[in-house]
Amino acid sequence: MGVAVQIEPKTKEFVAAPVRKMLIDGKWVEAASGKSFETPNPATGEVLARVAEGDAEDVDRAAKAARRAFDEGPWRRMNPNQREGLLLKIADLIEKHGQELAELETLDNGKSIFESRNVDIPAAAATFRYYAGWVTKITGETNPADEAFFSFTLREPVGVCGQIIPWNFPLLMAAWKLAPALACGNTCVLKPAEQTPLTALRLGELLMEAGVPPGVVNIVPGFGETAGRAIVKHPLIDKIAFTGSTEVGKEIQREAAGTLKRVSLELGGKSPNIVFSDADMAEAAQGALLGVFFNQGQVCCAGTRLFVEKKVHDDFVGTLAEAAKTMKQGSGLEADTRIGPLVSKEQLDRVTGYLDVGKKEGAKAVIGGERNTEKGLEKGYYVKPTIFTGVRNDMRIAREEIFGPVVSVIPFKDESDAVLQGNDTTYGLAAGVWTRDVSKAHRVARAIRAGTVWVNCYNVFDPIAPFGGYKESGYGRELGKYALDLYTQVKSVWLKI
Ligand code: NAP
Ligand code: MG
Repeated sequence: MGVAVQIEPKTKEFVAAPVRKMLIDGKWVEAASGKSFETPNPATGEVLARVAEGDAEDVDRAAKAARRAFDEGPWRRMNPNQREGLLLKIADLIEKHGQELAELETLDNGKSIFESRNVDIPAAAATFRYYAGWVTKITGETNPADEAFFSFTLREPVGVCGQIIPWNFPLLMAAWKLAPALACGNTCVLKPAEQTPLTALRLGELLMEAGVPPGVVNIVPGFGETAGRAIVKHPLIDKIAFTGSTEVGKEIQREAAGTLKRVSLELGGKSPNIVFSDADMAEAAQGALLGVFFNQGQVCCAGTRLFVEKKVHDDFVGTLAEAAKTMKQGSGLEADTRIGPLVSKEQLDRVTGYLDVGKKEGAKAVIGGERNTEKGLEKGYYVKPTIFTGVRNDMRIAREEIFGPVVSVIPFKDESDAVLQGNDTTYGLAAGVWTRDVSKAHRVARAIRAGTVWVNCYNVFDPIAPFGGYKESGYGRELGKYALDLYTQVKSVWLKI
């Protein structure tokens, strides 16, 4: 057993509240229905906290508050310098409370404290800091009109943004949604996932502490079927930003048509990670491992289809399996844990279901292939990191998103075979290429139909670079300057001189 992290008193206090309330119009309130739901600790299966259960009525209150804050409040008219300062303050507060937020994230989601402390929380702060920089740089243009006119454009906020996020990076996804929306002057109704509502609610407290005006950010925890659906349908909400499954993404696009909301979707993936025989094998193995076991594989861009050139296939699988065995699985709170439990019982069932599917399809689990029920882990939602070989690209485990620590190794013959098989998927979120041949790296990076291609690295993120999907992985680009397009609209103004 590793050394468990001592939990901060503030963390204990946060989860111990009888009911964690929702944030509407700058106030912490219970659900109109009075209902609440439990969020479990995936490491133990025990109840972690109780949270107010928002539904259509709460979404209505939140949407009205956000509408008022947008139409009448100080937010849009605030000097951009002041809004920039506010976003910087939010970043500082996230950092100041980094340990507490990391503990909450690990308790609620299961991910290792190593990841939440070193990745999720700092990346959330960095996202607010990055978009703080944009607030004073969002500009329109002057157009070369006939001299009888002055023609110019204004880049204006979209209005009220409904933002629906998943459970895999709860605080970070909240930051990816809120930071650019606020930078552009919008107001927001955010719904965290039912499995992981806690850090978004704690972030809400920090937003209030930073001085975000009432109604600008409303946070309504609840279920997708009720609260989520109500956000998508609400007539006062102008735009939907969604991250989650492709299935729900398609439904949201259909529902949003009713009020013709702008929609941006960041959905699932089945990303190819392609290892050529001329790659640095040790680095490629480490990258492949990180590419698929990071966050227990619950990552939309995970490199779940690992294409390995035939002549190095067996050696590479051996190296990979040895490296995977060194990753300690256990409670996320232990400092040396590298693979924690999955987020929920549903996810556990889903992933172990796919392990059975893989075996039935004829794949061989070189390591793992089952739930981990060793002493101390039996009550949690642990699945052993799994490497399947003997996989063909047309098997279900190579086509459907598993969202667990499961990689399918698929051999390929040459460059064109790798590209052909890599692209043979309905998804297009990300891809990896491992080679020492610069020309080949460029060729393959261009040939792969995906929103992000990593060469000789994987899962590298920074708010400077856009992220989003091709094909059924969605549309719209988050991060970078591209996210400003999601959260602004252009007004053309003509003035007769
Ligand atoms: P999901 O259903 O797509 O959930 C994502 C978010 O959408 C959650 O906040 C969810 O609320 C909400 N939601 C669900 N149904 C909705 C609806 N009809 N209208 C509006 N909002 C709705 O994903 P999941 O069920 O948690 O996970 C299932 C699978 O999706 C995973 O196994 C994985 O394959 C994929 N997934 C992908 C990503 C990604 O980053 N691309 C993230 C998570 C999951 P509730 O959670 O409260 O129901
Ligand atoms: Mg939980």
